[in-house]
Amino acid sequence: MANKLVYFFGKSKTDGSGEMKALLGGKGANLAQMTKIGLPVPSGFTITTEVCVNYYKNGRKYPAELPTEMEKAVKWLEKESGKKFGDVKNPLLVSVRSGARDSMPGMMDTILNLGLNDAATEGLAAATNNPRFAWDSYRRFIQMYGDVVMGVQKKNENDHEPFEEVMDGLKHEVGVTEDTDLTAAHLQELVKRYKKLIKEWTGKAFPNEPMKQLEGAVQAVFGSWMNERAILYRQKYRIPDEWGTAVNVQCMVFGNMGEDCATGVAFTRDPANGDNVFYGEYLVNAQGEDVVAGVRTPLKISEMAKDKILGPAHKELVEVRKTLEKNFGDVQDFEFTIENKKLYMLQTRNGKRTALAYVKIAHDMVKEKLMTPEHAIKSGDPEALNQLLQPIFDLKAYDKAKKDGRLMAVGLPAGPGAATGAVVFTAGKAEELAAKGQSVVLARIETSPEDLRGMIAAEGILTARGGVSSHAALVARQMGKVCVAGAGDIEIDYHKGVLKCKGVTLKEGDNISINGTTGEVFHGKIDTADSELKQVLVGKTLKPKDSKVFQYYDFIMKLADKYRTLGLRTNADQPDQVLNAVAFGAEGIGLCRTEHMFFEGDRIIAVRQMILAKSDEARKSALATLLPYQQKDFEGIFRALDGLPACVRLLDPPLHEFLPQSDNKKGQEEVAKQLGTTVAEVAKMVHELHEFNPMLGFRGCRLGILRPEITEMQARAIFQAAVTVLKEGTKVKPEVMVPLVGFKRELDLQVEIVHRVAAEVMKAAGKKFQYTVGTMIEVPRGAVTADEIAETAEFFSFGTNDLTQTALGMSRDDSGSFLPGYQALEIIKANPFASIDRGGVGQLMKIGVEKGRSTRNDLKIGICGEHGGDPNSVEFCHMIGLNYVSCSPFRVPIARLAAAQAALRHPVKAPAAKVVKDSKGAKGATKSKTSKR
Ligand code: PEP
Ligand code: MG
Repeated sequence: MANKLVYFFGKSKTDGSGEMKALLGGKGANLAQMTKIGLPVPSGFTITTEVCVNYYKNGRKYPAELPTEMEKAVKWLEKESGKKFGDVKNPLLVSVRSGARDSMPGMMDTILNLGLNDAATEGLAAATNNPRFAWDSYRRFIQMYGDVVMGVQKKNENDHEPFEEVMDGLKHEVGVTEDTDLTAAHLQELVKRYKKLIKEWTGKAFPNEPMKQLEGAVQAVFGSWMNERAILYRQKYRIPDEWGTAVNVQCMVFGNMGEDCATGVAFTRDPANGDNVFYGEYLVNAQGEDVVAGVRTPLKISEMAKDKILGPAHKELVEVRKTLEKNFGDVQDFEFTIENKKLYMLQTRNGKRTALAYVKIAHDMVKEKLMTPEHAIKSGDPEALNQLLQPIFDLKAYDKAKKDGRLMAVGLPAGPGAATGAVVFTAGKAEELAAKGQSVVLARIETSPEDLRGMIAAEGILTARGGVSSHAALVARQMGKVCVAGAGDIEIDYHKGVLKCKGVTLKEGDNISINGTTGEVFHGKIDTADSELKQVLVGKTLKPKDSKVFQYYDFIMKLADKYRTLGLRTNADQPDQVLNAVAFGAEGIGLCRTEHMFFEGDRIIAVRQMILAKSDEARKSALATLLPYQQKDFEGIFRALDGLPACVRLLDPPLHEFLPQSDNKKGQEEVAKQLGTTVAEVAKMVHELHEFNPMLGFRGCRLGILRPEITEMQARAIFQAAVTVLKEGTKVKPEVMVPLVGFKRELDLQVEIVHRVAAEVMKAAGKKFQYTVGTMIEVPRGAVTADEIAETAEFFSFGTNDLTQTALGMSRDDSGSFLPGYQALEIIKANPFASIDRGGVGQLMKIGVEKGRSTRNDLKIGICGEHGGDPNSVEFCHMIGLNYVSCSPFRVPIARLAAAQAALRHPVKAPAAKVVKDSKGAKGATKSKTSKR
């Protein structure tokens, strides 16, 4: 490898900076940055992510130069610290930690106290004058190294840790209960037993040589990049496998040398609700892992201010809090250690937060001028905004539960919202019941990274031990799960499968309810109700001025609107859906699927009459019955839109979808009765309409072309509705969209009908109106002949659901059977029906855009497939110059933030034509900036 492998940070020099996250990982870059701004950081060095990438490229082999580079780096560290690796008088000890570009809390491996062996332990005992501390450090090191590097691990989730078992055995023999009661001599004996355990499990001896230890540890950290939980985590958070992790090797400082030592984790603001309070916890006389593991319940950081010994360090921490926010421009989540009263910073990173905390913190920090508005937008997770729509407890049911004395315990409110469901005690059970559609709450004494699958499956997470920085709290916050952590009154017995608290015993499967906003735990079920945001925007039962949550959300959304160049529309077929979407920020309808309207009330009878009609006359008569229904539907939609554009798609699905199939004899009998015909007749028609592959059959524009009267009826309904609503004084902007076009001539034939009907309606009503006719691009031929199609089409909308299935030759309805396997084999990275396959489908879209605009340079182009609400796809749509994305109403806020992020990530010189909602004065008119793209 030609590039520099190792970067230093320390008193004498610092090579890296906070900007270098891609190369040094988040932890390494920020350690360098903290050192640069003068915060007390123990010296160390970072092995770059490139080394990790190379390690995997070369079949898990280090670059040849790495051992020499590491030796040089250790020599430098020895000079920096004045200590020596393996020294019998004053040994240098280091921590070895992973550090990917984006933090992956708890997913990869860490080793502390590296450098100890029998001789160095004697040295440490002498140097610190504390033999117990030295032997305790050594046994911790062997335990971690044995677990992480040498693989001495429990085999099942409810097994005991092998090292813990050995320790428990010794404690029993010497008659003590607490770890802290073990003397130096006991710990020395424990070290012997640990080494024996390692030899028995692995057949190998524990390595004595510090440089060998370091090589093993570095290799294990690189190896942990590909462990199962890290892979799962990356899949969930879309972190590319190719990034690799860096490794940070840093001088150890000790929080466990006595009562003037401590270790802790803190956030510069509350990551659960966003409050501007110093938020964190610490343990006196402990090592960092003790806090994160949640084994001992730590003290609140505010307690430290009152501590006589640690009070001055608390003062320093308060200053550090300010310095961090000022320098990093965001909420920081940091780890610190106090060694003999001296404060050391071990890491800092942007704090993971709930969606509620995100909107509040962004709102507050922008106003306080601590965060740039750009960062406020960039730092949000669009998908997480869903959390703001998550239910809370129904107030009446909640009050009743309290009155009935069902409150069992109160823990720490670690993830806001309400969850109610069956209590389960293992990740496996959580997955099993959730797969059956049951709502579950996963209750664990404390969680560890192995529980990740169960945490994903559960509605809520409850732990009996651990603080706000414990694994459970951290992960729940990031996933947006409802979480109550450290509910200390609760006892969980895994073997018996019960949870006990204050005389109440819940068995696995019994109902439990947790309130992650208050920390309360109830037995039994409590009904849930709409979130504040829904109450303001959807139910309108809460006024905006009475909801702080709404105000923070609104601030972010308005900020997003300043940056985004993509327009936002919604896929909606009913007036109430339109109103919801507009409340969330939609600027029009991008797809109104008219067939959904065919199923309403008893109009399906007329639809079936139309399908089964023997003559043109009979078909026309059935369509005449349908016309007023459709017209009324469109009137409702135009009124709800209040002048915003409505893109209405002509009938698309194959006709058999409207008839009961051959396995539904009862349904066929009913239809026969309704239509005054025989069951045999209905069955015959069903048989005739049967297609082997209906998705590629008689559907889309093919219907309207061969049954033009259907198109005619739909066009008439749209235009007559437009006239009616126009006459009421509300502007309308209909856009008629023809589905599944692959040939220009297909579109021409349909457009001809639409124009003719429009002229007829205008003439009959004596009123002119504006409208456009365009097409969906949803088959590959449509994309590659887009230049021809654009001669007729006034707009395009990518139907990426069909475009994906036709481009990939994968049925969207049947691909569930092989897609997960394909993902596991990395043939595809993400589900192409959820996130645009940029390399294939995306390229067709690009061709469609370029060719379409080569004919008509102001061609308006949108997307209305499911991808329109997927942040990654929204980014792609922005990159290829679409004018708008359209998605379901409740995904509009997600697309809104994603569009702003895309605009910040990929600034464009000529902004896309943006559909802007006009002010009330110019009611309903829409402006469209002409675009060169
Ligand atoms: C599409 O194909 O992307 C689309 C929006 O149409 P539908 O899902 O109704 O086929
Ligand atoms: Mg389609």
